[in-house]
Parts: sequence; C-alpha cells; structure tokens
Amino acid sequence: LGSSLKDALKKLANSSKIDKEVIDDVVKDIQRALIQADVNVKLVMKLSNQIKNRALTEAPPAGMNSKEHVLRIVYTELVNIVGKATPIKLEPQTIMMVGLQGSGKTTTTAKLARYFARKGLKPAVICADTYRPGAYDQLSQLCTKLGVTFYGERDNKDAVSIVRNGLKEIAKYDIKIVDTAGRHALETDLIQEMKDIYGLTDFDHKFLVLDAAIGQQASEQAKTFNEAIGITGVVITKLDGTAKGGGALSAVSDTNTSIAFIGVGETPEDLERFDPDGFISRLLGMGDLKALVEKANEVLTKDDVNLDRMMTGKFTLNDMYSQLEAINKMGPLKQIMSMLPLGGLGGNITDDMYKVTQDKLKGYKIIMDSMTGEEKEDPKLIGSSRISRISRGSGKTPDEVRELLKYHKMMQKAVKGMKGGPGKMNMQKLMK
Ligand code: GDP
Ligand code: MG
Repeated sequence: LGSSLKDALKKLANSSKIDKEVIDDVVKDIQRALIQADVNVKLVMKLSNQIKNRALTEAPPAGMNSKEHVLRIVYTELVNIVGKATPIKLEPQTIMMVGLQGSGKTTTTAKLARYFARKGLKPAVICADTYRPGAYDQLSQLCTKLGVTFYGERDNKDAVSIVRNGLKEIAKYDIKIVDTAGRHALETDLIQEMKDIYGLTDFDHKFLVLDAAIGQQASEQAKTFNEAIGITGVVITKLDGTAKGGGALSAVSDTNTSIAFIGVGETPEDLERFDPDGFISRLLGMGDLKALVEKANEVLTKDDVNLDRMMTGKFTLNDMYSQLEAINKMGPLKQIMSMLPLGGLGGNITDDMYKVTQDKLKGYKIIMDSMTGEEKEDPKLIGSSRISRISRGSGKTPDEVRELLKYHKMMQKAVKGMKGGPGKMNMQKLMK
C-alpha cells in the first residue's frame, strides 16, 4: 500500500527529477507510515513541514546531487524527532522507576540491575510497590535469579518509609533502583506518594516506563509524571510485540525528554540501549536503516573494493576476491543494496552469485595464490596450459580452477551491466 518509508524512498530514487510534486509525494508516504505507527499528528506535521522546507530551499552541498540531498534531509529529520538516547553514566547512581501498572517497571528494574552489574557496578533494588499483591515476591524472585540484592518490607504499606529504610540498608551499593507502584489511571494519592519518595534523596534518574502499545494517551501520562517529579528518561517496553512505540515517541517529544532504554522481551537480558536509527527503522517497518547505511559505507569506502574501478568495467580476479570477501563479512550485499534507495547498484547480480561459502572462498584464495599478478589482472591470459600449472601449484583440480574463472566471468558481466546504471550513490556523502 506504499505506506512504508522504504517505498517512499524508492519513489524518490526512481524519479528522474526532484521537484515539489515528488517531495510532496514522498512526504505523504512518510506521514502515512508514521501515523500508522501511532506517532501523533502534530509531530508528524512538524516533521513533514521541516522536510519539505529544507528539501525545497536548501541547495545540495557540493558533490551531492539533489536526490542524495533530499534523502539525507529525510534521514536526519527522522533521527532528529526521536532524539539522542538519554546519556547513562557508568558510575554509582540512584534511579527511580515510575509508570502505569503493567507498563513494565518491575521487569525493567531487574533488567537495569543486570545491565549495570554486567558493567561492573554493584546493584541493589528496593520494592516500593505496596499496592500490587505479589509485587514484593515478583521483584525478590527476579533478584534472587540474578543474584541482585533486594530490599523490601512485605507487611509495610508505607512505601515512603520502605524506601527511606531501604536506601540506608543498601547505601554501600553502586546502583540503587527504586521500583514504585503504578495503577490503572493516574491518581492523586499515587502522585503524592511518588513525590514523597522523590523527596527522600537526590535521584540521578527518574525513568518513566511506557508500554509501546500505549498510543495517544502516552503524552498526557508523561506530562503528569514529568510535572510531578521531572522525568530524566523514558524506557519503552514491549517493543518485541507488534506495537511500534509511536505513542511513546510523541510523549518523549511533548515532555522534551529522551529515550534511555527499550525493552524487547520478558527476560532480564531483553533490554537494549535506545538507538535512534534502529527505532526509526522499527517505527517505519523497515530494516535497520543506520546499520544498512553503515554497512554500505563500509563496503563502498573499502579501498580493496574499488567501486569506481568496477564502474569503469575493469573487474579483475583481485577485485572479485575482495568483493566476495567483503560480502562474506557483512552478509548478502544484494539484500542490503535492495533496502537502500540505491537503484541499480548490484541489480544484475543474482542471489546465486552471492552464495559463495567461506570454504569456497578459501579455495579461491588458494587457487589465486598460484596465479601470477598478470593473470589475476587479466584472467583472459589463462589458457589450458596455465590452468594445469595453477592446478598443480594449488593442489586443486583443473575443474576447480575453471570454475573460478567461470565465476569471475559471470560476475564481470554483471558488473559491466551495472556500469553507469542508475543510482550509483555515495552513502558516505549521505551520512555527512
Ligand atoms: P509493572 O506493573 O509496571 O511493574 O509491570 P511488570 O514489570 O510487572 O510487567 C508487566 C508485564 O509486562 C509482565 O508480564 C512482563 O513480563 C511484561 N513485560 C515487561 N517488559 C516487557 C517487554 O519488554 N517485552 C515483553 N514482551 N513483555 C514485557
Ligand atoms: Mg511492578
């Protein structure tokens, strides 16, 4: 239905000239994708206006064509709206977890304890949820499993006194995490309790935990929590499910906070530092944009994969070898290229051509080591007598040598086919 960013970017890549009409079209697709992901309309409009303005008024920097320029604007504006991850210092600190019941506070408390423990800091947690039956057991059991120190008072209903006692008890620990209660709706006594706990010590972080599925009410919740205690970062949980977290994103934008972590599963290891690019990609239903761009960069800038040389049609055995090596390192190049708006790059190379196993590659290397430099530069020189020589030298059969040459011919043809083809883009420029 053309509702993904990928389609929008493809449209852009395939259009012969960039004008207002094309940009409007692309922006419309982006809007649709974001709104489907639950991002609020205000934010979507702001973003699309920014993209339009910049695309129509800014001149492409030297060396960048208008297509690349527009792509870069789309990309940077998208990264801008999600913002950078909340900075997390790897040093002793006190953290308070807040959020609605069921949002994932307790789970995230355990995840965070594990996170810091793995960074070499000693964590301890306090259970300040006196509302939910079983809250004490839930957290203490998670802590036992993780070997994390737990403080709670099963029969005390006064959360504030528990936290006061607990903070004394765990004073010597590096990371102190207070897990609080949340209920179905924001209630004034709950807010008061939160404020009282907040007043007990100088919390370094107050994390608002939001379920990715929360949708449009996220903003209101976030504002209330923020006014009460001042949120320092957001944790979006359950991003392993179908929800894409657009609502949470709107909340972050509305409260001027940032996302610290994301929860991607129920177990304590399912916590990730927030990564704006990965999040955008998830939001818009495409692969990891940044990873793709970086991977493409890595390959396109590698000296030994001389794309410019390839573009001239010269494609020696050495070129083939380094290309295969690079592909092996980063996974199927074609798949990556097809996800990027690179148009024809690699378009003539079939999947089969890329299916070169590590073993085969090793074999090719051994065969090539028995060739002269001249032969590698110009494989046409290799006739049947040279094949026997190479075969003897490398310990491979003549058929294997022939197979290598055949493979090279096939790749060379494909590479020639894409010479001057559409969309040879410099992803490095795109990222600047
Ligand atoms: P709390 O009421 O805010 O403390 O929420 P809990 O930590 O008790 O979590 C509520 C439910 O959500 C539990 O069943 C958790 O296992 C589940 N949960 C929490 N975080 C995640 C997550 O990132 N992914 C998934 N799939 N489930 C989660
Ligand atoms: Mg809880």
